[in-house]
Amino acid sequence: MKVVKVDNEKCIKCMKCYDNCPEDVLAVNEEGYPYLKYEGECWFCGICWMNCPKRCIEMKLPASLW
Ligand code: SF4
Ligand code: SF4
Repeated sequence: MKVVKVDNEKCIKCMKCYDNCPEDVLAVNEEGYPYLKYEGECWFCGICWMNCPKRCIEMKLPASLW
């Protein structure tokens, strides 16, 4: 399950999420949009979300953490 999802319609490709992710788990797709590549290694710190100027990153905790 993807827990960090970018809304490509709002994303301006500034790469602040990518640059600030402490785990380097984001990658860039062929269209230049960031996406969560290594789902199992993201620890939901929210730094990508906090750094996004467009607020276009959606975060969902996996059911196992509830
Ligand atoms: S929540 Fe944290 S670890 Fe996961 S992609 Fe965002 S910045 Fe990286
Ligand atoms: S910080 Fe937000 S606007 Fe910038 S590349 Fe990431 S998702 Fe897109």
